[in-house]
Amino acid sequence: MQDTDARLMAEIEARRDDLVALTQALIRIPTLNPPGRHYREICELIGDRLAGAGFAVELLRAEGARADSDRYPRWNVIARRAGGRPGDCVHFNSHTDVVEVGRGWTVDPFGGDLREGRVYGRGACDMKGGLAASIVAAEAFLACCPDFAGAIEISGTADEESGGYGGVAWLAEQGRFDPDRVQHVIIPEPLNKDRVCLGHRGVWWAEIETRGRIAHGSMPFLGDCAVRHMGAVLAEMEATLFPALAGRTTAMPVVPEGARQSTLNINSIHGGEAEPEPGYDGFPAPCVPDSCRIVIDRRFLIEEDLGEVKAEIAAMMERVRAARPGFAYEIRDMHEVIPSMTEADAPVVRTVSAAIQRVLGRGPDYVVSPGTYDQKHIDRIGRMKNCIAYGPGILDLAHQPDEWVGVDDMADSAKVMALTLAALLDPR
Ligand SMILES: [Zn+2]
Repeated sequence: MQDTDARLMAEIEARRDDLVALTQALIRIPTLNPPGRHYREICELIGDRLAGAGFAVELLRAEGARADSDRYPRWNVIARRAGGRPGDCVHFNSHTDVVEVGRGWTVDPFGGDLREGRVYGRGACDMKGGLAASIVAAEAFLACCPDFAGAIEISGTADEESGGYGGVAWLAEQGRFDPDRVQHVIIPEPLNKDRVCLGHRGVWWAEIETRGRIAHGSMPFLGDCAVRHMGAVLAEMEATLFPALAGRTTAMPVVPEGARQSTLNINSIHGGEAEPEPGYDGFPAPCVPDSCRIVIDRRFLIEEDLGEVKAEIAAMMERVRAARPGFAYEIRDMHEVIPSMTEADAPVVRTVSAAIQRVLGRGPDYVVSPGTYDQKHIDRIGRMKNCIAYGPGILDLAHQPDEWVGVDDMADSAKVMALTLAALLDPR
């Protein structure tokens, strides 16, 4: 075993240039989401590459999924290479989409420049570097260990950044993550090469609307101002809700530490007259707002129950209603995900941890992500519990200008992935 590990690490070292070139090729396909561009091209790149390594490749369009259209089809790729003997299937899942570029770049966001040991570009760390590392890890393993048990699967999936409904959620609905098909899942999100991410907090998005009555702004007493009603809601949040959330902490090892408590963000507020059309430079008209809306983003802990999370907000709204004559409101559910956390002694956690120890000479930190990622679908729809996120790249760089991934970090995590395959697939 020692010997196999050493050969695998040397094999990855010999493939460094190839690892960089593959990462660059992936970055140069601008898979922006929304709206979801170039999914077919990136799936073909991944599929052609893995077909060359002996994988059976399927390109699957998530027809009928949210956001799938003929103009922006949601293409996914799954490649599978089976060994000569029965055994477990190890699946590496990466999302292929990237978020918008934004301002502040000093390099070409889709150039894939290599400078001082870093590859730059939108998606470099989140998560094309991790995808490339998993492909090179699998190829190195196959070169060293042609006789193995079980199977390796690698998928490139759509739409993680917008909820994963045209990607992992859809594939899970097709049974692609059923536990009798796949036994270990590793998602190479950029959690750093020395950390194992066990899961994520839960999320509930809702829109709250307060209602009033329109009237002339010079006689506001003839109307009822929805913005003032919302002001009362915000004041109640400050007085009671935020202190209550801050006092609730989790045993989940969430990083950063500030996310180890319940949190609530107010994503937006809209009330009164709509924004003027572009080009209009007149004044607004004087009206009492008859509607005000906020979108809340509530992140909750594994110790909390989603029903109680919703009931807490409803109770807060009822307190405001009791104190304000004529107060009318509505709460509309938008989106919800329950927390997910893989057991620290699950097989994939133990195996990847041992590989990190071998490659880096120290054991990993176990972390939980403040926000959700595709593990939610693998857990909830696929019912596959033996799943983690592990991959190269610094999470703080994700979605930032001048995003990059370190070549050393990619090579080290590719070694961890290759050693993981060796530990799980019984090579001879
Ligand atoms: Zn990501």
